[in-house]
Amino acid sequence: MATKPFRSLLAWMPAAVAGLIALGASPDTAPTAPRLTTLDVAGMDTGAQACTDFYRYGNGGWLEKNPIPSDRPRWGSSDELRQRNLDDLHRILEKLASDRSAPAGSDERKLGDFYGACMDEAAIEAKGLSPIEPELARIEAIKDPVTLRAEIVRLQDLGANALFNFGSEEDRKDSSRVIAAAVQGGLGLPDRDYYTKTDSKSVETRQKYVAHLRRMLELAGSPAAKASADAQAILALETKLAEASQNNVDIRDPDKTHHPMTLASFSKATPNFAWETYFQEQRIPGGVEVNVWEPDFFQAANRLIRSEPLSTWKTYLRWHLLTATAATLPKRFVDENFAFYGKTLAGTPEIQPRWKRCVTATDNAMGMALGRIYVQDYFPPAAKKRADELVKNLLAALSDDLQTLTWMSEATKKAAAAKVAAITPKIGYPDRWRDYASLEIVPGSYAANALAANEFEARRDLAKIGKPVDRYDWGMTPPTVNAYYNPAKNEIVFPAGIFQPPFFYAEGDDAINYGAIGAVIGHEITHGFDNSGRKFDAKGNQVDWWTAEDAKNFDERAACIIKQFNGYYVEADLHENGELVQGEAIADLGGLTIAYRAYKISLKGKPEPPPIDGLTADQRLFVSNARIWAANHRPEFARLIVQTNEHPLGQYRSVGTVSNMPEFARAFACQPGAAMVRAERCQIW
Ligand SMILES: [Zn+2]
Repeated sequence: MATKPFRSLLAWMPAAVAGLIALGASPDTAPTAPRLTTLDVAGMDTGAQACTDFYRYGNGGWLEKNPIPSDRPRWGSSDELRQRNLDDLHRILEKLASDRSAPAGSDERKLGDFYGACMDEAAIEAKGLSPIEPELARIEAIKDPVTLRAEIVRLQDLGANALFNFGSEEDRKDSSRVIAAAVQGGLGLPDRDYYTKTDSKSVETRQKYVAHLRRMLELAGSPAAKASADAQAILALETKLAEASQNNVDIRDPDKTHHPMTLASFSKATPNFAWETYFQEQRIPGGVEVNVWEPDFFQAANRLIRSEPLSTWKTYLRWHLLTATAATLPKRFVDENFAFYGKTLAGTPEIQPRWKRCVTATDNAMGMALGRIYVQDYFPPAAKKRADELVKNLLAALSDDLQTLTWMSEATKKAAAAKVAAITPKIGYPDRWRDYASLEIVPGSYAANALAANEFEARRDLAKIGKPVDRYDWGMTPPTVNAYYNPAKNEIVFPAGIFQPPFFYAEGDDAINYGAIGAVIGHEITHGFDNSGRKFDAKGNQVDWWTAEDAKNFDERAACIIKQFNGYYVEADLHENGELVQGEAIADLGGLTIAYRAYKISLKGKPEPPPIDGLTADQRLFVSNARIWAANHRPEFARLIVQTNEHPLGQYRSVGTVSNMPEFARAFACQPGAAMVRAERCQIW
C-alpha cells in the first residue's frame, strides 16, 4: 500500500520495525497502571524549576517511577494507555478464540481463529517453512525480466516490501476521486540514510544488518558460504535503491512527491515494469492517472531490473519474503528477526510475550472488526459527546485566532477561515464498518492467515483506484492511541483508543482536558496549516491559495522552528533534524496555543476556577500537556526516531512548545532570560 501523505500525532515506526513495536505493551515488570480520573500530580517533580526545565517539573515523578520494561524500546505515558488497550483487546480475543460460538464466516469467528492460530506455537513449529514454500518455489522459477516483474507484484500483494509500493491515493488535483500512486520502497533498513551515511555508527549498523541477512538465509536452508555472498549482494542492491531514493525530508514535501502521469507516459518512461500488464492484472482501469512520487527512483529501478543479474534479484526477493513473514514462522525466525529489528535497531532487550504480539497482529490484520467490538465495550457515548464539544470549541478558537494574525493578508485569512470551516472531524470509530466477508481465515495456520490478510488489504486498497473517494474510510483502527490529519480529505480523525487519561479525563476539570486532548485536537487542526498541509485547500486539492507575501512570511516563521529544533541535542553527535520535524513542531505549537484560547473561551467570561492541588487552572493546563509527552527512551531507539521520524522526542515536544508561549511564561511567572522563555520566540498561529 502506498505511503499516505497524512500526518499523525505520535511517531509511527519505520515499516521494518513497525510489526515489532507498533502497539506494544509492558511485561509483568510494569503491570497495567490504574485508570486515572484526574491529573496525577505525584508524577510531577516540584523540586525542579518550571521555568528552567518544564519537562522535568511536569514529569519528573512519572519518569522516576516508570523505567522502561524489558520488552519495550520506550516507555511513555501514551504507552501506559496502549498497555490498557492491549489488555482490553486481549480479553476480547481470548474469549473469541476459546468459545468459538460465533457462526462460521462471521468476523467474531475469524478474529478468534486468527488469534488462536497465532498463539498455537506447536502447530507453527510443526509446519516449519512449508507455509511459504510455494512462494519460495515461485521465486526460484523466475527466468527473465517478465517473470521477475510478475513475482515482485505478487510479493507486494502478500505484504513484502519488494522494490516499490503501489496503491491508491486521492487525486491531489481533484480530491473527489482516487488515482494510483507509485512510491519508492524495497529497503530492509529503516531509511535511505542507513545505506549512505559513512559515520562509524552507520557502518557498524550495516555490518550487523549483513550478518542478520546471512543468518536468515542460513535458517531458510542456504549453505554458509552462499548465504554470506548473498547477504553482500542484497546489501549492494538495496544500496543502489537507497541511492536513488528521496531523503526523508523531501518525501514529506507535497510538491516534491507530485508527478501525475498517464499510464502511457509512465510505461514509456519505465518500460521494464510493463505497467499496462500490471494495470490489467490488478484490475485497475487503464484511463486512471498514476502519481509517481519519485520519478528518479523508478528510472533507477527500471534500469536495475535488466542490469542486475537475475540470481541477485531472486536472492533479494527471497530475503524480503522471509523478513515479511518471519514473525509468523517458527521460533528461530522470530528470534533472529527480533535480534536485529528489536534489539540492534531499537535497543529492546527482550521480545514481547507471545500474546501481546498476537493481539497486535490480529489488530493489524482485522483491526476494524476488532475495533467494532472494542468500542461497544470500551467507548461510552458520554466520552464521544464531550469529545464532540471539545472539537467544536477548538475549531472556533482557530477561526478567531486567524483573524488576529498580523502577518497574514485579508485574502489568505479568508481562505484559511473557509478551510477551517470545511474540516471534517471523525471521532471514535467509523460510521460504516469494513466488510471482511472475502477474507478467508483458517484455524491452525497462522502464516497462511497473515498472508491472506495482507492480500485482502492490498485488494481493498487497489479496488479504490478509479473510483470516487470513500468519505467513510478510516486510516487507523478504533483502539489505536493516535490521531491524524488527512490533507486530501481535510479531515481530523481521533480513534476511540486515545480518549483516556492522560489524554482525556472523562470526569476531569476542563483545564487538564484542554491541555491534553484539546492540544491534540488543535495539533491535528493545525496540520491543515503547517508547511505541508497549507499546500492543500478547503476541498483537499493541492493548490496554492496563499499570496506570495504570506507564503514568504510563513516560511520565515517556519525557519524559526527549524533553527530551534536543530538546537536540541540527543547525543553529542545527534540533534533533532529541524527540517524533518518542523510540521509536527508547528502543529504542537499551534495546537497548544489554540487549546489555551479555547479553554479561555469555554469559561464564557466566568472567573477562573480556584486552584486544585496547589496549581492554578492555567498551570494545570500546561502540566497536563507536559504529561502526554512523558517518556523514557532506550538510546538506540531515540537514535532511530531522531534519524527517521518526523516527530520530535516527547521532551522537545513539551519544552519546545511552551518556551515559545507567553501564556506559559505568565502562568508560571517565568522571567525573560529563563531557559523556558526563548529570546527568539517562534510564533505562527
Ligand atoms: Zn502530527
